[in-house]
Amino acid sequence: MNISETVKSQHKFFFSDKTKCINLRKDKLIKLKNTIQKYETEILNALKLDLGKSFAESYMCEIVMIVSEINYTIKNIDKWAKSVRAHTPISQFLAKSKIIYEPYGVVLIISPWNYPFMLSLDPIIGAIAAGNTFVLKPSEYSVNTTKVLQKIIAETFETEYGAVICGDKDTTTELLKQKFDYIFFTGNTSVGKIVMKAAAENLTPLTLELGGKSPCIVDKTANVKLAAKRLAWGKFLNAGQTCVAPDYVYVHTDIYDEFVKLTKKYIVKFYGENPLNSNDLPKIITKKHFYRAVTLMENTDIIYGGKYDEDTQKLEPTIILNPDTNSGIMQNEIFAPIMPIIKYTDSDTLIKEIKRREPPLALYLFTANKKLKDKVLSQISFGGGCINDTIVHLATPYMPFGGVGSSGMGGYHGKYSFETFSHKKSILERSNIIDINLRYAPFYDKKINILKKIMK
Ligand code: NAD
Repeated sequence: MNISETVKSQHKFFFSDKTKCINLRKDKLIKLKNTIQKYETEILNALKLDLGKSFAESYMCEIVMIVSEINYTIKNIDKWAKSVRAHTPISQFLAKSKIIYEPYGVVLIISPWNYPFMLSLDPIIGAIAAGNTFVLKPSEYSVNTTKVLQKIIAETFETEYGAVICGDKDTTTELLKQKFDYIFFTGNTSVGKIVMKAAAENLTPLTLELGGKSPCIVDKTANVKLAAKRLAWGKFLNAGQTCVAPDYVYVHTDIYDEFVKLTKKYIVKFYGENPLNSNDLPKIITKKHFYRAVTLMENTDIIYGGKYDEDTQKLEPTIILNPDTNSGIMQNEIFAPIMPIIKYTDSDTLIKEIKRREPPLALYLFTANKKLKDKVLSQISFGGGCINDTIVHLATPYMPFGGVGSSGMGGYHGKYSFETFSHKKSILERSNIIDINLRYAPFYDKKINILKKIMK
C-alpha cells in the first residue's frame, strides 16, 4: 500500500468504531509487549549496529522503558478512558456535566534516531491506549532498528490499525501532505517548525518533542562527588546523543577543581583508561553527525579527552573549559560526549544569563541550598528537570515529559500520553423538568439585577 492508501484504510478502520473498544486496545498492547519480548535479541543487536550501544544500556534505556509504560497503561486504561463528571455552575441549573475522552483518529508519529526504539513506541502506546490508529515514520538513520520495528508492528497490527512508513525527509514531506487527525513529532527544533507549518495547512493538532541546549548548574553547596558521577552518567549515556543530556555545565569556582577531578575519575570508572576501546561507549550515529561533533571541538580548550576514531565513529568523553559564548559548541545542541564547563561565581548573574537563552528542554541543579533551588525553579522556564540528578525525570509515568517554547509543546507519558492523544469532549446534559426563562428574550433591564445577584 502506498502512503495515501494506508492513511485512507486507517481512516476507514477508525470510522468503523472498532478502536473504541477498550478490550481491543488492551489486547493490542499486550500483543505489542509479547512481540517486543519475542524480538528482544534482535532489538538489542539492531541498537548495537545503529548506535554501538551495549546490550545492558539498550535494555535499560529502550526496552525497560517501553515494557513498563505498556504495563502501566494496561493497568490504568479502564480508569483513564472513563468519562469524568464535572461541576455544573448554578447558572446552568438543572443540568449535569461530563468530559468524554474521544480518540482523534489517525495519528502520524515521526521519530528520531537517538533512541530509535523507545521514541518510536512510546507515543504509539499512548495513541493506541486512547483509541487511535497510527502511522509511524522512523528516522532514516537508525536503519537496523527500523527493520525490527517494522517486524514488530506488522506482527502486532493490521496495516489499517498501525503501519510503518520508511524513508527520508521526502517521505515525511509526502506524509505531511495527508490529512492526519493528530501529529506527534520528536526531533530537532528546525524540523519541528516545518512539521508545524504542514500541520497548520490541515489545522491538525500536534505535539512537538524538540531539543535544544539543556544547562546544568553545580552550586558550591552541592555534593560534588555525586554531582560529578550523575553528570558523567547523564552526559555520556548514549555518547551524549540524548535530548535531555546536560548540554553544558556551570560549576561554581569554589568547587571547580574538585568537580573536574571527580568527573575525570568517573569517566575512567565508567569507560576505562581508553574509552575508544570501551564496549560501553556508543558511537555517533553516522559519519556526518560524527564530523559535526568533531568540528564542535575545534578552537576550544580541551582539558580532558578529545581523541576520536573515524573508523568506529567514536569520540572520547571530553571536557572543555570556558568555551566562548559565540562558539559553535555554545550555539548548537552538542549531541555528542563533549562536556563544556563554565566557571561561575554569582548565581543571580547566572540565572539572568540562562534566561537570555531559549527555554531549554531540561535543566539540572546540584545544590543543598534551598533558596537557590527555589530561585532557579521559580525564575527560569524549562521543560522539566532534576535537582541533584540528570535525565531521570523522564523515566516516570507519573509526570508529563515535554518542552516549552522552542524546546517543544505538549507532553506525554502515562496518563498524560492518554490525554495527549484524546480530544476532551465536554457535554452538558440539560434536564427537561424546569426551564428558566432568564436567558431568553425579551432582555428587560430587571434581568441585569438577577444576573448581578447570581454573580455575587
Ligand atoms: P530530526 O528532526 O532531524 O529528525 C526527526 C524526524 O524528522 C526523522 O524521522 C526525519 O526523517 C524527519 N525529518 C528530518 N528532516 C526533515 C524535513 N526537512 N522535513 C520533514 N521531515 C524531516 O531529528 P534527529 O536528528 O533524528 O534527532 C535529534 C534531535 O531530536 C535533537 O535535536 C534532539 O534533542 C531531538 N530529540 C528530542 C526528544 C524529545 O523527547 N524532546 C527526544 C529525542 C530527540
